[in-house]
Amino acid sequence: MSKSKNSQPLSAHPTSVVTGGAGFLGSHLVDLLLSRGHEVVAIDNLVTGSVDNIAHQGGNPRFKFISQDVTEFVFLDRPVDYVWHFASPASPIDYLELPIQTLKVGSLGTHKALGLAKNKGARFLLASTSEIYGDPLIHPQPESYWGNCNTIGPRGCYDEAKRFAEALTMAYHREHGIATRIVRIFNTYGPRMRVNDGRVVPSFVSQALRNQPITVFGDGSQTRSFCFYSDLIEGIYRLMMSDITEPVNIGNPEEKTMLEFAREIVRETGSRSRVVFRPLPQDDPKQRRPDITRAQQVLKWRPQVSLAEGLRLTIPYFKGRIAATKRSKRS
Ligand code: UDP
Repeated sequence: MSKSKNSQPLSAHPTSVVTGGAGFLGSHLVDLLLSRGHEVVAIDNLVTGSVDNIAHQGGNPRFKFISQDVTEFVFLDRPVDYVWHFASPASPIDYLELPIQTLKVGSLGTHKALGLAKNKGARFLLASTSEIYGDPLIHPQPESYWGNCNTIGPRGCYDEAKRFAEALTMAYHREHGIATRIVRIFNTYGPRMRVNDGRVVPSFVSQALRNQPITVFGDGSQTRSFCFYSDLIEGIYRLMMSDITEPVNIGNPEEKTMLEFAREIVRETGSRSRVVFRPLPQDDPKQRRPDITRAQQVLKWRPQVSLAEGLRLTIPYFKGRIAATKRSKRS
């Protein structure tokens, strides 16, 4: 496994830049970095992110928010130790609505974020995705698998943007010698997901809490493996602080069919909802589960939070969001 030179944290109070810092995962990363002594600059154009996710850090003197599209030149008049490139629409519904922005942030945005890291001599981490495996023909998916992607299908804008981003990251590593990390993020859930972002966890949980039909796409036999956000962020932090240049899968290998998952959500929420079947979106991967052998070996990381536990920590958050929406509609 190739190792890059600088594998230790660079200083006691390093500066981290998080692109997509107002998003679901970006904002949780911001919190973790601040709790570990970093100065943090979050950059976000708020297309899918929200200031609500970072408002609680507003008075923190070690935190700064810049409202900017990362596809534009990023100028920062301060030293930077780490660049965490998280900016991108990540829900299939979002990237189907924003295909060009998705391609631009994966290509031009990654270029700008890498340029910033190069200019500052910073270490760089790319938030890549299990989507680069496409509709995988190998199961579970190890990092050595090259994937099965439809470049011209509706999901191509996300898959190919992230595949390009990985290639560009490796080119900057090889050509400019910058220390780079690539995490392949599998399905992740938890508080701060948008109720209506279209991904399966917010959809099923909000439908169940409203006692509305649970919309299972296809026959529900397709599988996913869900990781709680805190496990994921810890794994990503460890990866940045490691010396591993090769991609590392981070996710929870606890695999479910979507039909099983719908039933589990009904149980956990005590809902009266019934399941209804809707057409399967084109190119929806039939199975997905991370092989996390590499993360276990090189990062000594494995998920700690079971799906049942994670759902119990997530459902109250969605309850709160739904109640807040009802209140604001009434007022
Ligand atoms: N899904 C579903 N009903 C919904 C939303 C999603 O059955 O209301 C399915 C979707 O077809 C996919 C899985 O749930 O097989 C996960 O979808 P998600 O949008 O969360 O992300 P993906 O893993 O496809 O990127």
